[in-house]
Amino acid sequence: MDIKEGLKKYFGYDSFRGRQEEVIQNLMAGEDTFVIMPTGAGKSLCYQLPATIMPGTALVISPLIALMKNQVDTLQALDIESGFLNSSMSRADYEAVKTKTRAGILKLLYVAPESLVREEFIEFLNASNISFVAVDEAHCISEWGHDFRPEYRKIRQIINNIDKKVPIIALTATATPKVQLDIIQNLQIAGAKVVLSSFNRPNLYYEIRPKKDPTHAITETIKFVKGQGRKSGIVYCLSRKKVEEIADQLNVNGIKAVPYHAGLDSAVRSRHQDMFLKEDVQVVVATIAFGMGIDKPDVRFVIHYDVPKSIEGYYQETGRGGRDGKEGNCILFYDFADIIKLEKFMKDKPVSERESGRMLLYEMASFCESGMCRRKHILHYFGEHFNDHLCNGMCDNSRHPKETYDATSDARKSLGVVIETGEKFQVQHLINVLKGSKNNQILLYGHDKISSHNAGDGYTEKEWKSLFNQMIVLDFLRKDIDDYGVIKITDKGKEFYETEEKLELIKYVEQEKGEKDPSSLEDFTVYDELLYELLLKLRKQIAQQKNLPPYVIFQENSLEEMAQKFPVSMDEFQNISGVGMGKAQKYAAPFIASIKKYVEENEIERSTDVIVKTTARNSSNKLFIIQHIDRKTPLDEIATMRGMTFDEVISDVEHIIYSGTKLNIDYFIEDYMDEEKQEEIYEYFLTAETDNLSLAQSELGSDFSREEIQLVRAKFYSEMAN
Ligand code: ADP
Ligand code: MG
Repeated sequence: MDIKEGLKKYFGYDSFRGRQEEVIQNLMAGEDTFVIMPTGAGKSLCYQLPATIMPGTALVISPLIALMKNQVDTLQALDIESGFLNSSMSRADYEAVKTKTRAGILKLLYVAPESLVREEFIEFLNASNISFVAVDEAHCISEWGHDFRPEYRKIRQIINNIDKKVPIIALTATATPKVQLDIIQNLQIAGAKVVLSSFNRPNLYYEIRPKKDPTHAITETIKFVKGQGRKSGIVYCLSRKKVEEIADQLNVNGIKAVPYHAGLDSAVRSRHQDMFLKEDVQVVVATIAFGMGIDKPDVRFVIHYDVPKSIEGYYQETGRGGRDGKEGNCILFYDFADIIKLEKFMKDKPVSERESGRMLLYEMASFCESGMCRRKHILHYFGEHFNDHLCNGMCDNSRHPKETYDATSDARKSLGVVIETGEKFQVQHLINVLKGSKNNQILLYGHDKISSHNAGDGYTEKEWKSLFNQMIVLDFLRKDIDDYGVIKITDKGKEFYETEEKLELIKYVEQEKGEKDPSSLEDFTVYDELLYELLLKLRKQIAQQKNLPPYVIFQENSLEEMAQKFPVSMDEFQNISGVGMGKAQKYAAPFIASIKKYVEENEIERSTDVIVKTTARNSSNKLFIIQHIDRKTPLDEIATMRGMTFDEVISDVEHIIYSGTKLNIDYFIEDYMDEEKQEEIYEYFLTAETDNLSLAQSELGSDFSREEIQLVRAKFYSEMAN
C-alpha cells in the first residue's frame, strides 16, 4: 500500500506534517533513521504508519508504562492491532500478547527496555517477525540528556541478538549536539539518516521572573492563573511536597487544581491526568513525572514554580504549552538558591553523573540570569542558530531589551585569557585569572605571570560570567562538554581576535532579591497607614469595653494586613492571618464596617481581583493537637506522637488559639511549672502594653523559660479572647 493511502486509511489524515514522509520512506527502505523533532511534531506517526503497512511486528521501546498503554489504546481505537509487554501485567496477559506477536497479528509491540534483557525475550523475538525497532524518547540513552535511563544503553545489545537485520528508528524531542552523538554511538547507527526539524516554537512566550520569596511566588502564580480565565495550564514544582502545597493553595483560592507526582497511587495519577485532559480541573500541579507524551493541544500556560534541572528539561516542559500553535505562556520563577538546593540533592550520585548534572544546572542558571533573547539562548543550546530579530517580542528579554555597551575590549580580554592559558580551563579559572587572584591553582600554573592576569579587575565576577556566557552563545567561545566544560576558542572567535571588529554586548544587571518588579500589579508589603491608625483606635476602644489588653483582640500584624487587603466581607476577613472563625465571629463586624467606610470614603480601588488566601498550614497537625488536648495528652507526648518538636507543638497551639479556638491546656501547665510562676506570668500579660515575647522575657527575668511564658500567654489568650 502507498503510504499516502495508508495515512488516510488508518489515521484519517490528508497530508503529512513537516518531514514525516521523508522519515517514513527512509525507514521503509530498510535504512536506519534518526528523528529529532520538537514535542507535538508528530513523531509517533513516523513509526506507527510504517509498522501498520509493513509485514511483521514493529518493536517499540518506550520508557513509561503509562505512555504505552495510552498509545496502544489510541491505536486500538484506530483498529490497528497492537499490544505492550511490561512487568505490571499478569502472566496470562503477558503470554497472550506474545502469542499474538509470534502469530504475526500485532503490528506494533511496545516494551519497556528492562524487559528486553531477559534471555527468553530474545528467543521470543527470533520466533517473531520483527519489521523494525523504534526507540522512542531516545534521549534517555544519554546521561547528558535530561532523563537518563541506564537500561536504554542495552538496547543495541538486544538488537544484535536478533538473527535478522532490522532497521532502527530513534526518535526524540530533545537532543543537544552532545546527546545526539551519544544516541548515534550507542545505538551504532552512524549511517542513519538524520531528520532534524527546527526546535523553534514561535508561539511560546518565555519569561523568567525573580522568585523573591515563597509568598511572592505563590501570589504571582495565583494572580497569573486567575488572569488566564478558564484556560488550562501546568504548574511544575520540584518536590512532591511542594506539588501538594501549591495544589492546595490554588484550590483554596478558587482555582481548580489537582496534584500529580510519582508518590501518588497510579490510579489517582491517571484519574488526575484524566481530569486535566477533560478539563474538569483547570490546572495540574506536577513534578516532571507529568507530561511526557501527554497530548493536550490547548495547554495555555506552563509555570515553573521551581527552576528545572536543565535547559532541555525546561524546553521539554514548556513544550507542552501551545501544541496547537496558538498561545502558550511560559513563566519561570527563578532563585539562585534553588540551584544550590538542587546541587545538594545530587551529592549522593556517582561522580560522573553529579558532574554532568551540575553542569546542566549551571547552564540553566546562566540562561535565567542572561539578558539575551531566551529563544536564541535555547536554540543555541540545541545547536541551532537563531536570529533574535525573529523572536518578535515573544520573550521577556526581547520585549524589554536590556542595555548594551561597547564590549570590544572586554571580549578581547576573554578571548585572550583563553588563548594564553592554552584552552584548558573552565570559566571560573579564567575569571580568577582576569580578576588577578593568586589562588593555588593560579600559582601552580604560573598564571599570575601572564598578561591576562589582573587584566579585568574592573569587573565583578558576575559581570565576567555574563560576558563569557554571551561569548559562548554568540559562538566566539565554546564549552567543551566532552572535556569537563573546558573553554575553547572557535574559528569565529579567532577571526574576531585577529581583526578590529567591534562588539556590542548586553550589560549585566544584578537581579536583586526583593527588588520591586515594575510589572507587578501591587505591592504586598505596604499598608495604608491611615487605616491602620483607625483600626488601632478601634481595637483600643473594644479592648477597653471588654476590659482586655488590646492585642488580645487582634494582633498588630493582623491589623497591618487588614490595612493592606481591605477585607470588606466576612469571607475576606477570615483570610487575614491570625483571624480564625472564632475571632471573626466575635470581633469582625466593627472592623469590617470601618474598613468598608474607609474604602468608600477614600475611593480605594481594592485589588480584590486576587486576594491570596493561605491554606491552614499543617491543618492535619492542628486537628490532631486539638483532639489530643481534649483528651489531656501532655504536649510533649503529642510532639513525639506526631514527630514534631516541642516548640513546634507550642507554636501550633498558639496559632490555634490566636485564630479564635478555645483550648484548655491547664492540665499540662499544672504539671509543667509551679503555680506561682504561672500567676506571675499571667499578671504580667494582664497589664502589659504588648504581648511581645522577648519583652516579656526581659521583664520577667531568666527564672522563666521561654516555653513557660509562651504556654501561659497562650492560656491567657484562650481565656481572655476566645
Ligand atoms: P510527538 O511524539 O512528536 O510529541 P505525537 O506523535 O504525539 O507528537 O503527535 C502529536 C499530535 O499530532 C497527535 O495528536 C497526532 O495525532 C497529530 N498528528 C501527527 N501527524 C499528523 C498529521 N500528519 N496530520 C495531522 N495530525 C497529525
Ligand atoms: Mg512522542
